[in-house]
Amino acid sequence: MTDYLIIGAGPTGCALGSYLSRGGAKVTLIEAVEHPESVVGESMLPCSRVVFDELGLDTSGFLVKHGAVFCDGSAESKSVRFDFSEAEDTTYTHAWQVQREVFDRRWREVALRHGCAIEYGKVTAVDIDSGTLTSSLGTHRAGRIIDTGGRSMWLSQQLGLRVADPKLKNSAVGTRMRGVKQLGLDQPGDITICCIPGGWIWIIPFGGGLASVGVVMSPACTLRGTSEERFQGALAMSEDARARLGGAERILPFRGLQDFTATSSTFHGAGFGLCGDAATFIDPVFSSGVLLGLCGARMMAPALLSGSTDELDAWQARYREGASVFRKVIDHWYAGDFMAVACAPVHLQKPYHRRGIVSLLAGDVYNPKSTTPRRMADRMGELAGMLKTYYANHPQAAAGMESGAS
Ligand SMILES: Cc1cc2nc3c(=O)[nH]c(=O)nc-3n(C[C@H](O)[C@H](O)[C@H](O)COP(=O)(O)OP(=O)(O)OC[C@H]3O[C@@H](n4cnc5c(N)ncnc54)[C@H](O)[C@@H]3O)c2cc1C
Repeated sequence: MTDYLIIGAGPTGCALGSYLSRGGAKVTLIEAVEHPESVVGESMLPCSRVVFDELGLDTSGFLVKHGAVFCDGSAESKSVRFDFSEAEDTTYTHAWQVQREVFDRRWREVALRHGCAIEYGKVTAVDIDSGTLTSSLGTHRAGRIIDTGGRSMWLSQQLGLRVADPKLKNSAVGTRMRGVKQLGLDQPGDITICCIPGGWIWIIPFGGGLASVGVVMSPACTLRGTSEERFQGALAMSEDARARLGGAERILPFRGLQDFTATSSTFHGAGFGLCGDAATFIDPVFSSGVLLGLCGARMMAPALLSGSTDELDAWQARYREGASVFRKVIDHWYAGDFMAVACAPVHLQKPYHRRGIVSLLAGDVYNPKSTTPRRMADRMGELAGMLKTYYANHPQAAAGMESGAS
């Protein structure tokens, strides 16, 4: 019998287990895949570093990421770059691009170092009332069962808590390539996002021309067919992506994902908890997934250890609130507002516009001292509306106005 059984030894599970273990709890992680694989979730945000640092994650060898480049895909081919040094809080001005097979292995090492046990087996059944999990290894018992097993939201589904997103019904195709170039405004290590009609392409460099590349498609996107056909179709729509991937060679099979945005009606209850993607996941356009899982775990551990339902309620509210900042901006992304504001002429921008966008891109959503990310998330629609009016009155400046991703 252990205090906590955690389903999944991904970044969220390992971070949560480490914090709990550090707090004196007995923790066992049950993980289905013994050797971590090259899954999505490769571009980190600077504000995740608080967790990396506190738990001692080894980041050696990962390519340093200083910023992000967005290419609007318009006929004028506008691009804009944001550097993390422009954020409101400059405690963390870089992050890393990580190959998940290495990153996840290092997270498991962190969990083991903090005293967690990791057992390899696939969880297949649960009985929350008796604190029992069944896996391919047999039966396990604990005081509380926590699912950090990712986007399948297994426990949330079992308990009837999963709530599909009413709006975001996107799909994705990704792979890894070599011979990828960084061009234009790209600084070494930047993530590049290229807009296409109804979607966007990601290019996440790992160094030496190796990169994760893929396309996310909203229902408005016209691409159809096999993964390869949709990927090639996306490239045909983006001169910016073609320039970077021209001559590159695919080295992994395509992997397809769909309808990945969902949440849970509650993140905790008697005998159970949910964290990371297993609790809630929003669209990946701002690379927020790992940050939300790690920050969620960091805040959840003391709430669990306190044994207080009020503390867990407060954790849930805070966790949701940070995620909702991203959620608002993601809606603005698919409405085209983000790119309209991001590409606005300099003389129409106030200093907090760039600061707000950069702070969001840095993942600064749990810092009460940083006000601009929330301000930007709340005002983005209004700012885009003001720009539309300006362009209507200044047609010569209108080029690029319709450059958003939708
Ligand atoms: C297209 C796309 C692109 C993305 N890009 C980014 C990005 O650039 N940056 C970013 O931060 N995030 C990104 N994300 C999100 C990111 O992948 C996740 O948010 C992140 O991996 C969540 O971490 P986690 O630990 O909660 O879950 P996971 O990383 O999914 O880990 C879950 C673990 O649980 C294990 N598991 C699952 N089921 C069971 C079971 N039944 N029994 C035992 N073990 C089990 C799995 O094997 C896995 O090891 C992207 C997502 C998508 C869909």
